[in-house]
Amino acid sequence: MEKWKKILAASVSDVAEIATRFGLPPGSLQQVNEIFPCRIPRRWLQKITAPGDPLFRQCVPDPAEAAGGRDLLDDPLGEVRFKKSELIVQKYPDRCLFLVSGECAMYCRFCTRKRKFRQPFIIKRSDIDAGLEYIQTHTGLRDVLISGGDPFLLDDDQIEYILRGVRQASHVKIIRIGTRTPGVLPERITVKLVNMLKKYQPLYLNIHFNHPDELDEITCRALKRLADAGIVLGSQTVLLKGVNDSPEVMKKLMWKLLENRVRPYYIFQCDLIYGAEHFRTPLAQGVKIMESLRGWCSGMANPHFVIDLPGGGGKVPVTPEYLLDRTGDCLTYRNYCGETYHYCDVPDDPAELPPQHPR
Ligand SMILES: *Cc1c(COP(=O)(O)O)cnc(C)c1O
Ligand code: SF4
Repeated sequence: MEKWKKILAASVSDVAEIATRFGLPPGSLQQVNEIFPCRIPRRWLQKITAPGDPLFRQCVPDPAEAAGGRDLLDDPLGEVRFKKSELIVQKYPDRCLFLVSGECAMYCRFCTRKRKFRQPFIIKRSDIDAGLEYIQTHTGLRDVLISGGDPFLLDDDQIEYILRGVRQASHVKIIRIGTRTPGVLPERITVKLVNMLKKYQPLYLNIHFNHPDELDEITCRALKRLADAGIVLGSQTVLLKGVNDSPEVMKKLMWKLLENRVRPYYIFQCDLIYGAEHFRTPLAQGVKIMESLRGWCSGMANPHFVIDLPGGGGKVPVTPEYLLDRTGDCLTYRNYCGETYHYCDVPDDPAELPPQHPR
């Protein structure tokens, strides 16, 4: 058995063990565990410094999950409506999701696709083939996002089967893979895996990271291995109460990602997931975090802050407002440190240009 599989098999799923470890009332996690299973790699568990810390909150079941929540949804992104084939979700004209895995190395308590993981499942080869068929016959697709679950929980040859199949569609120009393994199961990023991935360029890896403590030595080594192989790395972060909802933590995370050649791509407002109300933050907090990044940190450390709209509207950016006033063609802005500057726009109608204006 490969080493990463042994490490995965040794991860903790027994909530009684977790309750004992952190001195929680025995039996307190049982009910929640039945709604959404628990799986925590031992290495991650060892990094938790105290109950309730950012690493703890992401993976230890919380009785609050059973409380549901007002207006919260089982399928917050309306993915069922956009399902085109068993494993394909397409909302946008030129790209689609291909959900090839029903398992993750760690179950995030705020997972958007929680509804699917009540029981981790094995994906059928016939469903993969149907997905590949969809991709091959829809020539408008330029970009395929392989996600799940976590695609890197599949075996190398299963991943390669999928990549090879997607590459057979000549209209698909880029492939993206979404994974959390570099942070939660870095042992998965083997030389063998990376050498295989390299054959399917242009390949972009979007890695889920929420807190700077996730980037420890072994994770950084996995990132280096991927970057050295020429795979373009990006990050996706979920804004979570008690995990990363402060400018300080988020700045540290974005900067640490960049240092490890991971370009911050998205910060997501937490979706309206049933049983994850306790993770939600007001939109204004995300805006404040974005203001703390823009101008203060390298532009490379500035991802897009987006809401994935409930019901399937797709992603919309949420940005701080820098425009203070607009009078005719004259715009007044504040800059990142609050100073005021003016900008003159091109007039809508060129006839309005003053006569002395050079044409
Ligand atoms: C997020 C998402 C994408 C990718 O969107 P980008 O903005 O291109 O990163 C594509 N399809 C679906 C259904 C998505 O949810
Ligand atoms: S890694 Fe992604 S898909 Fe897996 S449980 Fe976490 S959020 Fe959900």
